[in-house]
Amino acid sequence: MILSLSKQIPSASRKIKLQWFSVTTAPYSHGHEIKLTTPMPEVASFKGVTSYTDLYNYSITNSNHFWETHAKSRLKWFEPFHTTSECDMSVGKAKWFLGGKLNVSVNCVDRHAQTNPDKIALIWEKDELGQNEFVTYQQLLEMVCRLANSLVDSGVRKGDRVAIYMPVSPIAVAAMLACARIGAVHSVVFAGFSADALAQRIKDAGAETIITTDQAVRGGKVIELKNIVNAALVQCPSVKRVFLSHRLGKSYARTDKDIDLDEAMSKADKYCEPVSMDSEDLLFMLYTSGSTGKPKGIVHTQAGYLLYAMMTQKYVFDYRDGDIYACVADVGWITGHSYVVYGPLGNGATSVLFESVPTYPDPGRYWNMVERLRINQFYGAPTAIRLLLRYGDSYVKKYDLSTLRVLGSVGEPINHEAWEWYHNVVGNGKCDVVDTWWQTETGGIAITPRPSSLGDVIVPSAPMRPFFGIQPALVGEDGKELVGGDSDGACCLKTPWPGMARTIYGDHERFLDTYYRPYPGYYFSGDGARKIENEFFQITGRMDDVLNISGHRLGTAEIEDILDEHVDVAEAAVVGVPHHIKGEEAFAFVSLKEGVSKQKVNLVGELKSDVRQKVAAFAVPGQILISDALPKTRSGKIMRRILRKLAAGEVNDLGDTSTLADPTVVERLAAERLKMK
Ligand code: ATP
Ligand code: MG
Repeated sequence: MILSLSKQIPSASRKIKLQWFSVTTAPYSHGHEIKLTTPMPEVASFKGVTSYTDLYNYSITNSNHFWETHAKSRLKWFEPFHTTSECDMSVGKAKWFLGGKLNVSVNCVDRHAQTNPDKIALIWEKDELGQNEFVTYQQLLEMVCRLANSLVDSGVRKGDRVAIYMPVSPIAVAAMLACARIGAVHSVVFAGFSADALAQRIKDAGAETIITTDQAVRGGKVIELKNIVNAALVQCPSVKRVFLSHRLGKSYARTDKDIDLDEAMSKADKYCEPVSMDSEDLLFMLYTSGSTGKPKGIVHTQAGYLLYAMMTQKYVFDYRDGDIYACVADVGWITGHSYVVYGPLGNGATSVLFESVPTYPDPGRYWNMVERLRINQFYGAPTAIRLLLRYGDSYVKKYDLSTLRVLGSVGEPINHEAWEWYHNVVGNGKCDVVDTWWQTETGGIAITPRPSSLGDVIVPSAPMRPFFGIQPALVGEDGKELVGGDSDGACCLKTPWPGMARTIYGDHERFLDTYYRPYPGYYFSGDGARKIENEFFQITGRMDDVLNISGHRLGTAEIEDILDEHVDVAEAAVVGVPHHIKGEEAFAFVSLKEGVSKQKVNLVGELKSDVRQKVAAFAVPGQILISDALPKTRSGKIMRRILRKLAAGEVNDLGDTSTLADPTVVERLAAERLKMK
């Protein structure tokens, strides 16, 4: 289905805030004439490049030379590649660095262990406040090798799929890298998924091996991971072995497939010869978060993915040698893959592993950690920012956050209120806030305010600029690119980049149908976007969520942004419901900040009036359901598919709810919804 955000909304009713901040970027000397927020030595070999714009243009028009140069200087190869790329967007074909041989674990660990063995690779911020474990590159190498040898000793071979179901921990990172070392394909399943969801993913991947942990602990709550694995095993007879590491060491039900990981590692050799992998061999598969339906096992390969993760981690976050970098995502999501593990470790960085939740033991947890570990870059999600701002500023202000330089946001559009709080309260007005738009499928950040020219401003609540090699296009429903000011369209990418997904595991047709066939010649992201000031990209939400009210097309994010700004509102989600005259009408779900009563007089009236004034009369939600919480996926995203059903009154037909974080939220909403009829 091809949808487009038409240009029918009168421009006066578009609310685009352009509050220009002059963001201060620390002066940073570099030996090149071009002034980038983060210097890039390779620029010297790009002829004619004298400005940031030149450099970006070079990455598009001389894409092969741009990436070839970086691949040679930033990756360690066993054998050089002979062809930089073989890509054809019209048929969804992507191959990078053909003929090259390398090993991702060598790139992420060995080379740093050789040059800098005592450098801290991982800082584990355990769930228990103030308990850290530090792992040097040398120690990580030994962990990876022992784990890799344990896998090999039990019969795991190159190309085998290994399911990893573990809490955020050094051993989980070692498990991913051990798979990379021996050429096994990891499929990390977020250790919060149910037995059914885990079983579905194990079966889809055809995994015979699981690596898991006895228990997980998050926010002080114990999750019996091994028992969940046991329940999944009943549905997956093809699983041959379950490696078990220990977190709490409490008892669990054993099966005859169990192998004690600690024991196996202690017996295994401490060095494991890395397997020489082809650039295009599979590195991992990862299921998307499941906001929109049946999860897709997105496939990434070796060299292109690693290079793209490394480049984006370095340039988007202005990562400099010696920084302490923290991405608080779980390793079970792509953000954890690219920005906790592969990007930072590829760059030889110190990466923080955050095992806990933002409100444990209190809503100051993140900031307590930033002060203690002297963190320079913090990368989190809007859902957490919105949650924390409900509790006010005091939990932030009591900590010294002066080490912070860059604050990142990912996962959903970051609304203005959250952006400003992040910028002003957390960043004290001094940090670059980078709203990063990307997807499991893009492998790494695709649109983001940084890098840029030194000193360039950042527009609030917009990812703004394409990363090197990325050429976004807004495409209309006729499949043609929309050019010119203020166009709303499907957010597509026009040119290939090394981190792009190669396929959906076992279903290449679905891959082509989803991403390459809707707009021939383009990669279609599924999201809508617009340009502000005819220059900067802003994401308007998922195309499935675009509303068509009396012929006016409107992204849900626009109405949500206004509702979110109301002083009493914590979070808002807007979906469309059928309407006999207008065709469709907005229906809003709103949760309130701490201490605000659901009965507050005229709240609904105030919200409607805000939307009328700041967006348009036609955008005013016909109904507003006020509740204590919104349904979220386990990665913290609002689950709109279910809200659409609830809004339509289809409370008994909600579809697959296995990726919901807390099903009771839906039950409460369903009860409230029934009362509204
Ligand atoms: P599924 O594809 O299974 O529905 P998902 O799309 O939530 O799950 P991810 O790949 O984790 O899975 O998320 C990518 C999506 O998240 C993007 O397509 C976009 O809708 C949203 N997103 C991520 N970052 C941003 C951002 N900075 N601004 C707006 N939306 C974002
Ligand atoms: Mg998606």
